[in-house]
Amino acid sequence: APANLLHITRSEQEFTMAQVQRMSRLMVKTLRDDPADAETLSHKLLVRAGYVRRNAAGIWSWLPLGKRVLENVTRVVREEMDAIGAQEVLLPALLPKEPYEATGRWEEYGAELFRLKDRKGADYLLGPTHEEIFTQLVKDQCTSYKDLPVILYQIQTKYRDEARPRSGILRGREFQMKDSYSFDTSDEGLAESYALHREAYVRIFERLGLKHKIVSAVSGAMGGSASEEFLAPAPAGEDTFVYCPSCDYAANTEAVTFALAPVEGAEHGPVEELDTPDTPTIETLADHLGVPASATLKNLLVKVDGEIVAVGVPGNREVDLGKLGDHLAPAEVELVTAEDFVDRPDLVRGYVGPQGLEKVRYIADPRVAPGTAWITGANRAGFHAKNVVAGRDFQVDDYLDVVVVEDGDPCPSCGTGLKLDRAIEIGHIFQLGRKYADAFQLDVLGQNGKPVRVTMGSYGVGVSRAVAALAEQTADEQGLCWPREIAPADVHVVAAGKALQTELALDVAEQLGAAGLRVLVDDRAGVSPGVKFTDAELIGVPKILVAGRRSAEGVLELKDRRTGEREELTVADAVARLR
Ligand code: ATP
Ligand code: MG
Ligand code: MG
Ligand code: MG
Repeated sequence: APANLLHITRSEQEFTMAQVQRMSRLMVKTLRDDPADAETLSHKLLVRAGYVRRNAAGIWSWLPLGKRVLENVTRVVREEMDAIGAQEVLLPALLPKEPYEATGRWEEYGAELFRLKDRKGADYLLGPTHEEIFTQLVKDQCTSYKDLPVILYQIQTKYRDEARPRSGILRGREFQMKDSYSFDTSDEGLAESYALHREAYVRIFERLGLKHKIVSAVSGAMGGSASEEFLAPAPAGEDTFVYCPSCDYAANTEAVTFALAPVEGAEHGPVEELDTPDTPTIETLADHLGVPASATLKNLLVKVDGEIVAVGVPGNREVDLGKLGDHLAPAEVELVTAEDFVDRPDLVRGYVGPQGLEKVRYIADPRVAPGTAWITGANRAGFHAKNVVAGRDFQVDDYLDVVVVEDGDPCPSCGTGLKLDRAIEIGHIFQLGRKYADAFQLDVLGQNGKPVRVTMGSYGVGVSRAVAALAEQTADEQGLCWPREIAPADVHVVAAGKALQTELALDVAEQLGAAGLRVLVDDRAGVSPGVKFTDAELIGVPKILVAGRRSAEGVLELKDRRTGEREELTVADAVARLR
């Protein structure tokens, strides 16, 4: 046969083969029992259905079915990022220390950062997020305002040495993230890049079939619309949020929950009020304090019109002046000592909503011993400041369940009783401002020929986490239950019977594949129909097509995985229906 004809025939065959996956040849070993260490539904089911396999704590392999689902999520994310004009790149995950030293994150990132050395003893890290490296890239590539705005993104493996990596792929130490970064010459430009991301994220999560709430988040000790989280409600979630059942109000409860008492031996500045005739800006404030505008400060309380908007406390929280943003224009700034916090009294509770800090309560907490300081947030299981001993100074468990806003508190927009829920953080969008641009002196030549400092945003989607979050929201007692766009196949054909049924099932699968459908066909010999049905339910393809008793007459049974509804139909009808 002529070589090119052979070639055509082969690629057609390959096309159909790629669309039709035979279970007899698929590497999938389903398990009847939950893995012993699994706590969340997605962890149990993704392992049992043979999607993922654990290598070590927080380190996972994606097996053929899982890889398909991960690819589907990745494709949706990529398409929506491309749609807002973002350009895909791929930066290294293995990174030199220096850029992270320049921003202080080499130290600040703490124990979550994977640090390593090369053979010459030079320091490296495995990237947990890439602000530094993207800032350097743009500094290298963009020189004029004409080169901006630009949005860059990558879909890449990230590394974080998580303290509690125990929810399967929901919290990995190695995981997939889509991270993007926007670069603009003006605040309005940044607001626009941010809005584009916000809309793209809504489309991504809608296409994925992930129910979600957008809540304003706290960036450091600083709230406001400069940062929002996309939360997928699910009992397995580690975040707590409040939402209003009547209007669309939702807010993260992770805000300012902390208790304080003096830290012995700590040095603090005197209490001062910044008294300027003009409305002060971050620059005025930084000038007054004698620090750079990108500094992070402890012992600082920032008030706007009498409302506390940012708190830096000794031992842990700090105010990032860069993140505070010009727009806040603090009307009153105080430098305070730890004692002053105590005088205010010990415990401040509040949460941040779309309008910034919406509610602050002061509650004295007798459990905090003098000479200690500690901080906890509703979804941060207590990160401790100096001299604090859990159990001696406070009971951790008491606080894990303490939520900042109580169930039934009135909604700030309409007064209806708020409800509390658990959720998984699936995305996070940030207006970074000029913090990173300052650290790397990222300027471009402006329209008037003078250099303009670039302003940035950073935006993340937990791509691998989204797979688990979707499993959490959609699974039922029988197993996984994917929406079609994300499922590893469009239809799962089950040969329920003897050799004849298997032959018919393969034939039907071939026809479905030729019609452009992605097909999984259970053609395993020596496996009972009962086991095949159980596996099909566990694997969670949205439609199950059974070649059983009546298949010799050309009649199949189509079952909807979610509703359990069944109907009998002919092969031709099945092809038409599923297309
Ligand atoms: P979390 O609060 O759950 O620790 P984060 O706020 O530290 O997440 P970001 O730095 O905002 O995470 O990263 C962007 C996104 O990456 C998050 O919204 C989340 O979806 C995902 N992500 C973060 N950490 C992990 C992880 N350990 N495993 C899987 N996905 C993660
Ligand atoms: Mg984290
Ligand atoms: Mg978070
Ligand atoms: Mg986050």
